[in-house]
Amino acid sequence: MFETLSNRLQGALRTLRGEARLTEKNIGEALREVRIALLEADVALSTTKTLIETIRTRALGQEVMATLNPSQAVVKIVHDTLVETMGAACDRLNLATRPPAVVLLAGLQGSGKTTSAGKLARLLRERERKKVALVSVDVYRPAAMDQLERLADEVGVVFYKGSPTESPEVIARRAVDLARREAMDVLIVDTAGRLHIDETMMNEVRALHAVTAPIETLFVVDSMTGQDAVHTAKAFDEALPLTGVILTKTDGDARGGAALSLRAVIGKPIKFLGTGEKTDGLEPFHPERLASRILGMGDVLTLIEEAERKVDRQSAERLAEKFKKGKGFDLEDFREQMLQMERMGGMAGVLDKLPGMNDLPAAARAQLQNHDTRRLVAIINSMTPQERRFPDTIRGSRKRRIAQGSGTGVPEVNRLLKQFAQAQRMMKQMGKGGLKRMLAGMKG
Ligand code: GDP
Repeated sequence: MFETLSNRLQGALRTLRGEARLTEKNIGEALREVRIALLEADVALSTTKTLIETIRTRALGQEVMATLNPSQAVVKIVHDTLVETMGAACDRLNLATRPPAVVLLAGLQGSGKTTSAGKLARLLRERERKKVALVSVDVYRPAAMDQLERLADEVGVVFYKGSPTESPEVIARRAVDLARREAMDVLIVDTAGRLHIDETMMNEVRALHAVTAPIETLFVVDSMTGQDAVHTAKAFDEALPLTGVILTKTDGDARGGAALSLRAVIGKPIKFLGTGEKTDGLEPFHPERLASRILGMGDVLTLIEEAERKVDRQSAERLAEKFKKGKGFDLEDFREQMLQMERMGGMAGVLDKLPGMNDLPAAARAQLQNHDTRRLVAIINSMTPQERRFPDTIRGSRKRRIAQGSGTGVPEVNRLLKQFAQAQRMMKQMGKGGLKRMLAGMKG
């Protein structure tokens, strides 16, 4: 996420690293690069201008000029300015009303509304223990109603079914009544979107707003549409009293401009980031953490939260113990480690949040990202417990048997064994010298 922006910004700020003193000249040069980085990331022009001027004024301030490490000071200024632009704190969903708290989702077709409705329902149910109901009022696309019904089933929340022959308002009013009667905490209303903004759509969603009286009206928008995201947001903001934004598909968005400009342009907070197609791909939006991630400072807090939620503590502790000792790490542990990693969004998801990952050689990063977890796990599953414990015993005929059992080939089994040996080496190094040494070990 946001790789391009991140790389360019860090590159721009790196030019200040060797400077002993900050001068108008070297700050000016660095800021020119920062400006290009922001514009290339599709940050709105007005937002870019404000950002650059704020950073310039602060960087030229007396205290910064006098600091011992001026380039670090500028990085901090850029960080803080990014945070302010995106909104200083994490804006949580406001559900403080007489239940059911209605959350209305609006946005263009394909923006990810239905997917986000399912993700949000799951998040509220699992993390906040809310009783959640979903309703779709997209009478034009019965397939969209079915999609939401399937999602409701998957994430274990109630679904209120409407018929394509009814009007959206009738379905919505009935859903609110039902939610009240069934003592739901939250009712999420998924509305119909068009491919483009049009008056009929706006009127319909306005009418739905009047009927359901939502406490949260969230605009759902695809981050990959960049500046268009900001234009559409403006149109929706004029038509509806929006309370916030869900920015979707950030997993595929290397530029990140929408995340930076949305708040500045429409004045409404981004509340969530969509980070994948699966129902667990929704993160509360923390401007502070995102700014750190963009500047290569990592987002260890989110990583820790994810780990706490998704990783089995006991097995993690067992692994940690083995790391510390630097021995006893076998193929079963390797499998467990891969499965845990997958639960946390795969290697790519984890790497994204570690500090300094951009400094890692490209080859090492590619190697880390090219894991096909399921195939590797299938290979390990085809081994006997004895073989998993003593991988050295896996030779010719055993390799052929394992390859056949897992539907792979001997070269793949060989590759896995090699990767395991490498991991084992890394574990040993980690036991001795911590993360830094482990990263150094990966270059070879
Ligand atoms: P709607 O028309 O606004 O309801 O959009 P959908 O929820 O049907 O989503 C459109 C497409 O985008 C689907 O293929 C989704 O799987 C995909 N999608 C939605 N959110 C995300 C996301 O955060 N990341 C990725 N990669 N895909 C997403």
